[in-house]
Amino acid sequence: MRRGIVVGQRDYRQIASAIKNRSPFHVLTGFMPSGHPHLGHLMVMKEVVWHVQQGGNGYVTIADREAHAVRDMSWENCRNYGKEYLACLYALGFAGTTYFQSKNERLKDLAFEAAMKVNFSELTAIYGFTPETDLAHADAVITQVADILYPQIDRAPAPTIVPVGIDQDPHIRLTRGVAHKLRMFTIEERDGYVSVRSKNAPDAALEDVKKAFPGAKKYEGHVDIRGAPCAAVSVKVREIELAHGGWGFFTPSSTYHIFMPGLTGGKMSSSIPESIISFYEPEAAVRKKVMSGITGGRMTLEEQKKLGGEPDKCSLYLLNVFHMVTDDAALAEIRRKCLAGEITCGQCKKDTAERVVTFLKDFREKMDVAAETIEV
Ligand code: SF4
Repeated sequence: MRRGIVVGQRDYRQIASAIKNRSPFHVLTGFMPSGHPHLGHLMVMKEVVWHVQQGGNGYVTIADREAHAVRDMSWENCRNYGKEYLACLYALGFAGTTYFQSKNERLKDLAFEAAMKVNFSELTAIYGFTPETDLAHADAVITQVADILYPQIDRAPAPTIVPVGIDQDPHIRLTRGVAHKLRMFTIEERDGYVSVRSKNAPDAALEDVKKAFPGAKKYEGHVDIRGAPCAAVSVKVREIELAHGGWGFFTPSSTYHIFMPGLTGGKMSSSIPESIISFYEPEAAVRKKVMSGITGGRMTLEEQKKLGGEPDKCSLYLLNVFHMVTDDAALAEIRRKCLAGEITCGQCKKDTAERVVTFLKDFREKMDVAAETIEV
């Protein structure tokens, strides 16, 4: 957040409160095992690990159903790539629950329930589905919705943070809508009272809401409560909902991060091998890629000295911002030298290559240790 990488959020307040008050919360993300993990995946992994370190219950889903349906990946490849993602996460210090979608029966049941709250016009509007889109695509989407809600059925309802790239906001909004639709009640703070409205609650549940708050008045489909704070009503109503077989979901929260550009200047993508650095890439290949990376340098050395470089347009500077330089003062010094024209891009690339090689050496060792403990 400090470095302007995590730039947005939805409903993060409930996560911040949970961290502050040490109350339960979940953190979840997912990875589609359609290729080897690379540096571009590190951001979201670090966000998950950070939230676990702040007290969150960690969850990671390997979206093998999606990789199989959307990328035509064989189940065996899904399994192998998935293990690599998990090794990365454990190497970073992740602790918590991990699963492959295809092996999680409760997740599939939850996806079916969620599917009852989504129609094709929504999928068309969000994902551009057409009449030709196969049903497995729709199934992959709804399974991801279920993934986000899964920690709340696996443990207990609690605020859930989903760190994602900024392009995933439509999916988060869809999931937030489904979580809301699966609740029995809507709770609204009105002028001087709290209104608990039934969406699909059995009458006995509405009756229990009335009984829980002395002086509450029950009407057709809603109960009005005076003298109780909205937060306290929410807690009690969730308990009643759960006792009557409801889900009691908290609406999930999200953070949004920008993307680290690829070394070729555009998007970091497995389909452009020069744009990415995989964790198991040989050292010589890593150095070559970094040395060939697009920089924000000027056309000539003379111009560079006179005008300085343009770090914000430089894929290597951003690689340092995202992952390679943890010390803010050291990063500020790289920026200052670049802007002042005090360093050549050649030297700067060599320094960055050194950092990447050192990072990867250490990270691979940790991944190898972690890989031995992963069973799929
Ligand atoms: Fe990028 Fe370094 Fe060149 Fe500045 S000096 S543009 S940070 S490579």
